[in-house]
Amino acid sequence: MRDFSQDHRWLSINTATVRKQHGKDWGLVEILDACARHGIRAVSPWRDQVAAAGLANTARTIRAHGLELSGYCRGGMFTEPNATDENLRALDEACELNATCLVLVVGGLPGALYGKPQHKDLAGAREVVRDGIATLLEAARQRQMPLAIEPLHPTYAAERACINTLEQALDVCDALDPSQSGAIGVAVDVYHVWWDPKLQQQIERAGKRRLHAFHVCDWLVPTTDPLNDRGMMGDGVIEIPKIRGWMEAQGFAGYSEVEIFSANNWWQRAGDEVLATCIERHRSVV
Ligand code: ZN
Repeated sequence: MRDFSQDHRWLSINTATVRKQHGKDWGLVEILDACARHGIRAVSPWRDQVAAAGLANTARTIRAHGLELSGYCRGGMFTEPNATDENLRALDEACELNATCLVLVVGGLPGALYGKPQHKDLAGAREVVRDGIATLLEAARQRQMPLAIEPLHPTYAAERACINTLEQALDVCDALDPSQSGAIGVAVDVYHVWWDPKLQQQIERAGKRRLHAFHVCDWLVPTTDPLNDRGMMGDGVIEIPKIRGWMEAQGFAGYSEVEIFSANNWWQRAGDEVLATCIERHRSVV
């Protein structure tokens, strides 16, 4: 297992982690400048942040700083009506920014994200998702942009993602890409999968060719909001080094991407303080 204690070469910042400072939006270009200032080598930006900063402007800043993209957030939402067009746009943006993969949050019951679920057929939603991924995979192969299905914690099944375990995500990968070409794999976010008794087994099943991304934060006790009360690594109950060890035993050698949505804590602080804390915790507890 790689030693992270001496430097932060393998730290990536998911830009949602610092999307606000003191409660106000922090622009993407300023975030990228700050990451470069802190010697951070990789980021994973969100589409809305890129849209606000401008795609060309973002690409230019990323190149100027020599930053890599540990992923691009995000495609998916296959159960929503405009999914196909949005996902093709997301793919093209990921290519333009030279991301290592496009992360997929697959969607839940149609309309549920807006408080108006159109039905209760979760199994049907999972079929729609599978078909949507199959179609997108063709476009992704043409562009040589790997897809990474991110299973979300079951608490998100209705609104955001009806793929809730690594096992489910890998079942889809196996069905769509039996040769394990690397065109489709998974994003393992410890916040979503740490509780799963099959986690180690499924990471082993995935293997290097399907382990596309590794996201870290922590599960606070108590958690006041499953969406926007994520903890800084080391402040909760997730055995992060153990899970990273399982990933690396399979050959995963990519970034540990810090992804913290924290409306009442980290988004209320100065961005530079948050980045400095991410670096310190990356060295000590990731
Ligand atoms: Zn994630």
